[in-house]
Amino acid sequence: MDVRKPRDAFVSLRARIAATGRPVPAGDIGEHGQPLTVGEWAVLIDELLDNPNDEAIWNVALPEEDDREFDAIFVGGGAAGRFGSAFLRARGGRQLVIDSWPFLGGSCPHQACVPHHLFSEVARELDLARHMSGRLWYPKFDPKKASIVEVIELFRAGRGFPHAVMNWQSKEQLGMEYILNSRAQVLDPHTVEADGKRFTAKNIVLATGARTTFPDLPGIDLRGVYDFASLTEDMNYEPNRCVIIGGSKVAIEYGSFFQATGCQTTILSRTPLMTTTSLHHVDDGLRAYVVDMMRDRGMEILEGVEPVAIEGNGKVSAVRYQDANGLEQVIASDFVFIATGERPATSQFVDALGVDVDDNGFIKVDTHMRTSVGNVWAAGDLLGPPLEMFKARKSGCTAARNIMGEPHEFDFTEYPDFLHSTYEITWLGLSESEARRKYQNVIKIQMPPDDANPETFPLPVADGSMLYAFTRPIISGWFKLLIDGDSRRLLGAHHVGFGVKDAFQYLDYLVRRPEGITIDQMGELNELFLNPEHFIQLCRLRAGQSQLTDL
Ligand SMILES: Cc1cc2nc3c(=O)[nH]c(=O)nc-3n(C[C@H](O)[C@H](O)[C@H](O)COP(=O)(O)OP(=O)(O)OC[C@H]3O[C@@H](n4cnc5c(N)ncnc54)[C@H](O)[C@@H]3O)c2cc1C
Repeated sequence: MDVRKPRDAFVSLRARIAATGRPVPAGDIGEHGQPLTVGEWAVLIDELLDNPNDEAIWNVALPEEDDREFDAIFVGGGAAGRFGSAFLRARGGRQLVIDSWPFLGGSCPHQACVPHHLFSEVARELDLARHMSGRLWYPKFDPKKASIVEVIELFRAGRGFPHAVMNWQSKEQLGMEYILNSRAQVLDPHTVEADGKRFTAKNIVLATGARTTFPDLPGIDLRGVYDFASLTEDMNYEPNRCVIIGGSKVAIEYGSFFQATGCQTTILSRTPLMTTTSLHHVDDGLRAYVVDMMRDRGMEILEGVEPVAIEGNGKVSAVRYQDANGLEQVIASDFVFIATGERPATSQFVDALGVDVDDNGFIKVDTHMRTSVGNVWAAGDLLGPPLEMFKARKSGCTAARNIMGEPHEFDFTEYPDFLHSTYEITWLGLSESEARRKYQNVIKIQMPPDDANPETFPLPVADGSMLYAFTRPIISGWFKLLIDGDSRRLLGAHHVGFGVKDAFQYLDYLVRRPEGITIDQMGELNELFLNPEHFIQLCRLRAGQSQLTDL
């Protein structure tokens, strides 16, 4: 390996932090081997984000520390590249991960999952404050105080710390080697260039993620058009009226946030929300409740429509679209948010390596994460849907295991899923219509039941929805559990409310085991009442029946 740039990047860190005018952390961080603290990392990352330059951060072993050939170079240090690297290291291999940002962890903590969860929590808080306005101790709700820009600034000011934790943990706890703040260029199946140096390895793992696909619409370049990434980086005014183009998860999540802040929001979607192929097993009842409740909160949701143009003179002023009857309509708007899904940038890999990609540019892999080119693997969003963290992390680890000689397959066709409106919406297993197509005797436990009046039916009720249940029951949530009446096994679970995501991760495992889990076994569990999905006690109420019936 002809890479011999010692950790001199670390030697300059103290001076670099001092130059920012920010407090210099105590301790001699410049000395070789002296680890940076999380706080020091945060200062450095913030400084590089505020003042981007091409000075790479090196954390590569000196020859006297480790002179083995790299087993793999991970190109991209997001969820896939970081987890794959950590796993390969844990198996005793030697890896190098290279990322163009000055931190590991990728888009999730920088522009995607983490701001999404912050925005969703803000939306939920605002929803409650608006609903309870003037009641109990809640002041009259003043929408002028809810600023989108302020929430984004809050996020931007704080995101350096999670980034810092990942750099620190990857180096100090996981023993990973990395080069950050440097774009990698793949030259052949064993060679990658970064920071002006060539690195060779037995294998290369491609893990460069995906970005928004901007539709080819007139006006798409106008000021006032954002996606999830540019919103986080560049939003600098308080919009009054938002049009979202696209009906992805991101449309529902960000749209619910914009609406909750008082920015009237319209979603323009070709297909009915939550019916795109990238979302599977969505129950019709769950979808109807989610969309109804978004409309109940004042959002406009237009389905079966086609955007035609974004209009404006330098800056967005309106969106023109064709409605479901084929008639052209215009919505005045000072903010357009693009949520039409993401695609990878794989042309450099096709050119340099000749890897096979599908029609959308996603890299084709087998179940071992092997591409069509020997010694080249791929992981994460580069592989196509589902674009989710579990797949990114597990596919990175799968590549690492196989590289280290452990044959391992990963099938990501079945998984539980969730999204946010101002609710947390979670599901696993089969939808009701899927279950009825596959099984003769499907039983459901649903709250509120189909024949109940939801305005007067205060179930579900649990943490996070108590105030709703006691003031307007219909908005306290919705859930359904599907059971095969013959085998008594659970088939699917669907929930709108708060606080079940954690439980659903484990329930999904139980449901998908070869032996599954029965209504009787559910009834034997010990509930921690009030439990948000109510499943255990409701299963117990029915488990006494030899011939199960709906509840
Ligand atoms: C708004 C939004 C919200 C989301 N919320 C959730 C959620 O709540 N839960 C969930 O499970 N999933 C969520 N996701 C999906 C999740 O963020 C992705 O699935 C995940 O980040 C993909 O990880 P990755 O490693 O494939 O790509 P990324 O995390 O994007 O990492 C790719 C890395 O490659 C680097 N890179 C690119 N090109 C180069 C190059 N040439 N040289 C060096 N480095 C390079 C980039 O800097 C980046 O760090 C969300 C996505 C979006 C857009």
